[in-house]
Amino acid sequence: MTEAERQPSGGPGAGSRRPLAPHEVLQYLQVIYGPLRWTPRQEPVAELVLTILSQHTSDMNARRAFERLRERFPSWEALMAAPEAAIEECIRTAGLSRQKAPRIKAVLERIKELRGDLDLGFLKQLPLAEAKQWLRALPGVGPKTAAVVLCFSLGMPAMPVDTHVYRVAKRLGLVGPKVTVEQAHDVLEKGVTPEQVFPFHMYLITHGRQVCKAQRPLCGQCVLSARCPSSRV
Ligand code: SF4
Repeated sequence: MTEAERQPSGGPGAGSRRPLAPHEVLQYLQVIYGPLRWTPRQEPVAELVLTILSQHTSDMNARRAFERLRERFPSWEALMAAPEAAIEECIRTAGLSRQKAPRIKAVLERIKELRGDLDLGFLKQLPLAEAKQWLRALPGVGPKTAAVVLCFSLGMPAMPVDTHVYRVAKRLGLVGPKVTVEQAHDVLEKGVTPEQVFPFHMYLITHGRQVCKAQRPLCGQCVLSARCPSSRV
C-alpha cells in the first residue's frame, strides 16, 4: 500500500502542518492496524492482580507469574490466607515480588472488607469517574491500573496510559510537554468519544511498539509524519 493510499481523505498529506487531533490520529492508525473489537479479557479482580504483577516488568513475565499464582492458589480466598513468602515465591518472575506480594494481598483484603466479596462487576454500573475513584482508593492502585481493569475487563471507556502511549502522545503533541503520565489519562480519554477510547489506546500502544519506538522512531515509515511535530523526516 502506498503512502497516498493509506491516507484517509482530508488528513495528513493534505499539505497542512496543523497537528493532528486525537480522532484524526485514530483514523490514520485504524487504516494501518485494522479494525478492533473489544472482548472481555478476564474477571476484573484477576485483571487487577495481573496489572499489579505487570508493574515494572514485561507482559510475558507478569503473565507467567500470574499463571503460577493461579495454579498454586486456585481461589482468591486461598491466596489471601497464604503467607506472603509463599505468594512472593510464586511471583518472582514478575520482579519486585517483595513489594507486589503484600500489595496483592492488601488489595484483595480491602475489596473483601468493602464489598463482602471479590466481585468488582458492580463498577460497571457506576459513572466512569466514580468507578475510577473507587479503584484508586485501593492500596497501590494508580490511574493506569484502574483504567486497565475498567477498560479491558469491564469495557468502560477508560484510557490506560503506559510508557508507549505516553511517548507517542507527547511526540504527536496530543498532550503538552508538562502533562504528567497521570494527567495524560484524562487528557487523552477526553480527546475521543467513549467508543473510541479502547481502539485509541490499542493503536497508540501498537504504534509505539512498532513504529514510534523509544530510541529510534521510524519516522520515515510513519503514516503520521507529515503532521507530527516530532517527525525526523
Ligand atoms: S513521525 Fe516519528 S515521532 Fe512522529 S509519531 Fe511518527 S514515528 Fe513517532
